[in-house]
Amino acid sequence: MEENNSKKRILVVEDEKTISKVLEINLLMAGYMCDTAFDGEEGLQKAQSGNYDLILLDIMLPKRDGFSVCREVRKTLSTPIIMVTAKEEEIDKVMGLDLGADDYVTKPFSIKVLLARIKANIRRSSGEVVEFHHPVQHSAGTIVIRGLVIDPENFRVEKDGKEIELTRKEFEVLLILASSPGKLFSREELLEKVWGYEDFFGGIRTVDVTMSRLRSKVEDQPAEPEYILTKRTKGYYIPA
Ligand code: CA
Repeated sequence: MEENNSKKRILVVEDEKTISKVLEINLLMAGYMCDTAFDGEEGLQKAQSGNYDLILLDIMLPKRDGFSVCREVRKTLSTPIIMVTAKEEEIDKVMGLDLGADDYVTKPFSIKVLLARIKANIRRSSGEVVEFHHPVQHSAGTIVIRGLVIDPENFRVEKDGKEIELTRKEFEVLLILASSPGKLFSREELLEKVWGYEDFFGGIRTVDVTMSRLRSKVEDQPAEPEYILTKRTKGYYIPA
């Protein structure tokens, strides 16, 4: 509803004027307040004012690219950032760099999907810092699976006594799987639970990328995982 969005301010950093205009119009129609910046310097300056509830950040920008803007903003602010990538190849870079971006979309994107994700990201950031979805509720206590210790309260994972640093998304995925050992979770299911949106086509890839990074941290031999297993193309699970 319009009222829910009316006080939320979104900064659109996009050098292509047509795209920027389309985004601005759609955001206004959805009830958001919208501000625009057309290059990386201007974007960074405006972002650092801290006046926004979410930043939509293009990657290829004049003066300063989106990677650099994102990194700078993250030094001082936790404003949700959705990166806008023009190429598939950029996704791996976004995911791999640990820039602190919360999400990404690939051009061309559907406005409907984009709006859903803006909403999901704002909701998540303005609510609980770490918002877990239903299955996790069961696991008030620490979960131990062989050498793997997952402590949801302290957001901490240890393997064989050594702490493993996970991003929030990696942690949430691991916790969901570990909360129901033996249960198979489809990628769509994980996407919906962890990222909070359903009808998003590129999304499954997000799950796979996160999963492969999670495995590289948790597994001794990621190619032959012993914790996080795949059932053909059906999904992921941790064996009971
Ligand atoms: Ca651009």
